[in-house]
Order: sequence, then structure tokens, then C-alpha cells
Amino acid sequence: MATVSITKRHPAKVHGSRVSRTAKPGAPRLVATPGRFGPWGGRYVPETLMAACEELEREYEKAKRDPRFKARLAELLKSFAGRPTPLFYARRLTKKLGGAKIYLKREDLLHTGAHKINNCLGQALLVERMGKHRVVAETGAGQHGVATATVCALFGFECVVYMGTEDMRRQELNVFRMRLLGAEVRGVDSGSRTLKDAINEAMRDWVTNVRTTHYLLGSVLGAHPYPTMVRDFHRVIGQEARKQVVQAEGKLPTAVIACVGGGSNAIGIFHDFIGDKKVQLIGVEAGGRSEKLGDHAARFQGGLPGVLQGTYSYVLQDEAGQIASTHSVSAGLDYPSIGPEHAWLADQKRAEYVSASDAEALDACKMLARLEGIIPALESSHAVAEVIKRSPKMKKSDVVIVNISGRGDKDIGILRENLQLD
Ligand SMILES: *Cc1c(COP(=O)(O)O)cnc(C)c1O
Repeated sequence: MATVSITKRHPAKVHGSRVSRTAKPGAPRLVATPGRFGPWGGRYVPETLMAACEELEREYEKAKRDPRFKARLAELLKSFAGRPTPLFYARRLTKKLGGAKIYLKREDLLHTGAHKINNCLGQALLVERMGKHRVVAETGAGQHGVATATVCALFGFECVVYMGTEDMRRQELNVFRMRLLGAEVRGVDSGSRTLKDAINEAMRDWVTNVRTTHYLLGSVLGAHPYPTMVRDFHRVIGQEARKQVVQAEGKLPTAVIACVGGGSNAIGIFHDFIGDKKVQLIGVEAGGRSEKLGDHAARFQGGLPGVLQGTYSYVLQDEAGQIASTHSVSAGLDYPSIGPEHAWLADQKRAEYVSASDAEALDACKMLARLEGIIPALESSHAVAEVIKRSPKMKKSDVVIVNISGRGDKDIGILRENLQLD
């Protein structure tokens, strides 16, 4: 699919989803029209995909209100994925940093090793409702591909996963895992051979086979309804964390910190705190190896408004509007755009976006491993890096939740290449 960049801040009406700034009286200004978060989001897809997006939106709206759908999803999250995940008090890390009390939300303990299964189970139930039997997906770190292959095995769907060949090299084990689960992994050799190129191919496949095929998108990206729907499937993270922290501390946290690739684990843990203005929401992007365009994936530091892969958000691009290449030590954060709801939260100053470099993330990974016996994914290590910077400046009465979006097993090869152990 073509990548269109526009630099105008507020696009006019596109495919029926109108830019609207109206909000219900008394409601936070963050309530937006469906498919739009302020001016961000929307549905920028070829005509051939309009019907599929509309079908998905209709089915999702119906499912959302269907008690049987909700009960089945809750049951699968519990008995298959392993929810609820614990909120763990990181005692030694807290003591070492000397500031806020640090809790870790343990999404790394979920089946398949990351938060992504929450969304995959939700979408798999929709595929079944729509009477489709073939699923295509894209994957960066391989985590979404593994989660997709897993639910396809569980539901008996045919599964094709597109993956950039650069990512296939970096995440060899996950490629084998997907194949073992019965999925076909198709390597994508175009562009930077990473996530955005895999998304293009998955979309091409979807356009061609739309009658039988569902596109199981792995983050809060793409055309409406994906950013809203995927967020809803991850909201459970924040709903649980909120209850758990209140139970443990008798109050809401001072801050919630999560890494941001497309933004699904972050929006999942943020969402139920958005109305609590005192809770700081902090997203951590990949600062990569330098601040130069091409060396990082920090969309809020150098990104400009643009349309990429179906949605209007901040996009890393050059002056001609060509999509920039990105770099991060963690494949899951290596993407030139960011979920449109994050663009809106940033505009509203409701959430703050910072970055952590490759080196900081690697150090944070080692620190958490040694102080708490938890090896976080390199993506999640970016969030850990931020709490390491921030906590010493905070009060002992402050409470911080860090979302550990996944476990580091998939990164052991990269960790071995990059970490000097003493
Ligand atoms: C995929 C992935 C991410 C990045 O995706 P988001 O949509 O930003 O959450 C973060 N952490 C882990 C462990 C992942 O697998």
C-alpha cells in the first residue's frame, strides 16, 4: 500500500469519519468521535478495503455488547493466557534507586511471553464471528506473529505471517516458533526489511483475499477501527493494575510508565488512568543510537504529522515526506509512526513522551535481571530505563507502576552480543 504523507495538521473529512472537537458536557475533552482522537486517526485505506474495515467495525460494535462474547474472551484470557497478571513490588530496585516505590505489571508472565495475546484472542473471536477462516498478520519482534500463530492454532485458522527479513534474522527463534505452531512465515525483502514493510505486504494480501481473510493487526495502528479496538482489548492491563495498586497501597500511583512502539501496551495500561489527572502517564520511545533521523524511533522527537498505513499521526519522515528509516535495538519499538491516540494524549499534554537509548535499555535490562530476577524484553527495558532515571528524583511516598510488556527470552541472542557481563 502506498504511504502518503501530508503535512497539513487537520485533514478534512475522510471516508465518513469527521474531524470533530465536540465533547459531551462534563466529559473529558479526550472523548473523540469514533475513529478520531482529536484530529488524529481516521481511515485512510484504498476503496477495496473500505468494506472490510466497515464489516470489522460493525462486528466489533456488536460483539462489544454481546455478553457471550465478553464471557468467552474473559474465560480465554484467564484459562489460556493466564490473566490476571500480578502487580509485583520491586523491593530491591526501589531500595537501590532510593526514590519512589516501584511496582511492575507482569505482562511478561502471559502465555507467549508478552501482552500481545490479549489483542490476538479478542480478534480471533471476531474472525470466528465474521465466518472467516484465514488470518494474515505482520510482525516486528516476532512476538505478535507468535501470538497470532498461537490463536490461529487454538481456533483452527489458516495463518500467514509477514516479517521483514532483517527482523527474521534478529528473531530467528520466533520464526521457528511460528512455523512450529503451523503458521507460514513470509519474508519481506523491501524497504528497511522491518515492521513497516511487513505491514505493507500484509495489507496487500488482505486486499487480495479480503472475503476469506482477516488482517490481525498487532498494535494500536492502522485504519479505524483498529486503534480503538486493539486498545479496548488491552485495557484489561490498566483495569487490573488500578485495582491491584489501590489494594496494595490504598491510593492511585503517582506515575505509570510504559514503552511505546505502536503504543498498545502503553495505551492498555494508561487508559483507565486517563481520567485521574494526578496520575502521570509516561510513554518511552526508542532513542536508538543517536538523535539523528534514521538512528532512532522517537516519533515525538522529530516526527511530523502524516498518514502512514491507514492512520494520521506523527511520522518520522524526511523533508519530502518520504518515510524515514528507523533504528532500535528492540525490533518491537522500531516503527516510524505511533498510535493516533498517543498523538492526541501528547497534544493534550495528558501524557508525556520521552525516549531511552539502546545503551540505556540494555543497562536497564541487566539491572532488573540482577536486582529482581526478571529479564525483561528489550522493549520493556526502555520503560525500566525511564524509572531508573526518574525514581531517584521522586519522593518515597510516590508510587510508580512500570509495565513489563514482555519477557526477554526472545532477546537473549541480542543481549549476548551487546552485554559485557562482569
Ligand atoms: C510488540 C512489543 C512491544 C511494542 O508494541 P506496543 O504496541 O507499543 O505495545 C512492546 N513490548 C513487547 C514485549 C512487545 O512484544
